[in-house]
Amino acid sequence: MSKEKNDTSFRDRPINMDEQGKRKWIFAKKPKGKWYLRRSIVAYIWLLFFILAPIIKINGHPFMLIDIANRNFVIFGVIFWAQDTFILALLMLSFVFFIVLFTVTFGRIWCGWACPQTIFLEMIYRKIEYLIEGDSKAQMKLAAAPWTTSKIFKKGLKHLIFILISVALTNIFILWFTGLDRLIEIMTDPISEHLVGFIVMMIVSALFYWIYSYFREQICTMVCPYGRMQGVLLDSKSIIVAYDYKRGEPRGTKDGGDCTDCNRCVDVCPTGIDIKNGTQLECINCTACIDECNIVMKKVNRPPNLIRFDSIEGIEKGHKSIWNTRNKAYSVVLLLLFGFFIYTLLTRPSLEATILRTPNTIYQVQDENTLSNLYNIKIVNKTYNDMDIEIKAISPEGKIQIAGAKPYIKQHSLYESVFILFLDKSKLTGEKTEVKFGIYSNGKLIETNTVTFVGPRK
Ligand code: SF4
Ligand code: SF4
Repeated sequence: MSKEKNDTSFRDRPINMDEQGKRKWIFAKKPKGKWYLRRSIVAYIWLLFFILAPIIKINGHPFMLIDIANRNFVIFGVIFWAQDTFILALLMLSFVFFIVLFTVTFGRIWCGWACPQTIFLEMIYRKIEYLIEGDSKAQMKLAAAPWTTSKIFKKGLKHLIFILISVALTNIFILWFTGLDRLIEIMTDPISEHLVGFIVMMIVSALFYWIYSYFREQICTMVCPYGRMQGVLLDSKSIIVAYDYKRGEPRGTKDGGDCTDCNRCVDVCPTGIDIKNGTQLECINCTACIDECNIVMKKVNRPPNLIRFDSIEGIEKGHKSIWNTRNKAYSVVLLLLFGFFIYTLLTRPSLEATILRTPNTIYQVQDENTLSNLYNIKIVNKTYNDMDIEIKAISPEGKIQIAGAKPYIKQHSLYESVFILFLDKSKLTGEKTEVKFGIYSNGKLIETNTVTFVGPRK
């Protein structure tokens, strides 16, 4: 039996920490194989989306934009205003349920394949590191070597590129909040005009640089709360990256299991764990160990997939079903939530008007028969069309006088004004009379609002 088999220190402390509590640097071997290729393709599509989504415009309108200054979000070309918070909350809730359902069924696949942290670290920063410093053994040698000109050059070049990439990533991140036109405007203005923004950009860039050059896998193993939730989300039917101990053990013996105890699955792991110890919260399901073990299996003429995507039940009983009561129930809730989100999205009004009587005002006597009240009006145009607007008092009928020019609301914008409603005294029903206002565009009634009109006590 190998030494590693009896070593249970992985239970006592994080794998990247020694007995003294000092950080152990993980020199992960460069992965290669079909899973790494698939993961790289997914990552490059993801990166393309990350870069292009805030730049792409459809008919001149943004595809993705988190416009905090104007209090609206554009998600896949659909604009959400502050008034749509409920619809957005439904979307967020659906997303959370989707992640939970996905985790219950497919384990931490999000972490290894779609999490920005993993994609940036494994597909950008680490690839540059491999390119400049070589594979894990060369990196270890370089780290232990004295500071020669060659080491200074390699380390300096790597960190310079890391800094530039961190600044670039931060600016792509900012694009999501500003859009391309605004970002170019900010960049071409003197720095003094956007000093706070510039300082924030530099701080975020420095944070990115620190995370990807130093802190690295500790985000996944020590900081990220999602990893910590695996214990409650996973069950024996969840598909995870798992070592087939039934086939592999006893390992490292001539006539024993298929595992040669070569530990190459550990060498390649970006979080430094040994998958042969079973499911661990540090496993991000990156599949690097599957590829590496398959290379070993090929060399020793054994069937591939000693480490594979499978469930605990799959390994123990050969059972393949991914369905259980939990993920069936989650699927129903997710379908209901998402269905409700689509329904509210499709039925939301294209204009949303809010009419309120101006605070701290009372009625005014205009003449013997007529009284007036002052109102504030806000209208959000959620469409991609500019609109001429008309406001009418439908019942009881009255005359409206609006401040400024005739309301004209540009696409995706907010209109705010005040208006006076003149009512004939004979139409008042008491001290407070309900008035139904209609908002019209091109003669078509778009929305109604009912507000009170105050008059004298009868
Ligand atoms: S790479 Fe495969 S054969 Fe080698 S130790 Fe890991 S599981 Fe065993
Ligand atoms: S154990 Fe395998 S799948 Fe999990 S993080 Fe390590 S290399 Fe990736």
